[in-house]
Amino acid sequence: MADFTTHMDQALAEARAAALRGEVPVGAVITDPRGRVIAAAGNRTRELNDPTAHAEILAIRAACARLGSERLPGHDLWVTLEPCPMCAAAISAARIARLYFGADDPRMGGVTHGARVFDHPQCHHRPQVYDGLSAQPSRALLQSFFAARR
Ligand SMILES: [Zn+2]
Repeated sequence: MADFTTHMDQALAEARAAALRGEVPVGAVITDPRGRVIAAAGNRTRELNDPTAHAEILAIRAACARLGSERLPGHDLWVTLEPCPMCAAAISAARIARLYFGADDPRMGGVTHGARVFDHPQCHHRPQVYDGLSAQPSRALLQSFFAARR
């Protein structure tokens, strides 16, 4: 892992930008097989009036549009929070190779909690999962966002 480059900082920047828009601060980045960032997004559910406009979904849509492909084999997805079941299903459908996520999400997560989408027998593509990357700043961002809204 000597040449390992984390893209969590960019995902965190997307999460911070989402918070400034009044969105739940979650950010996602997709890198191609050569490690280049080809899509980055933050949550836009409020702005788009769209409950599916999670950072991961928007990043997958942007990457697929850019490639003109419905699948992203060999691509990696970086996201600041454990994906929910909807996003986990989309990550599987997109054939994402590796999933890197920050904070875990016992309440809404669907990877290591709840539905555990990738462990389900119906899941035909399971990415390699690496959790806990930049978990602390990812969690802190969410906590301060929700604390400010209370
Ligand atoms: Zn989601």
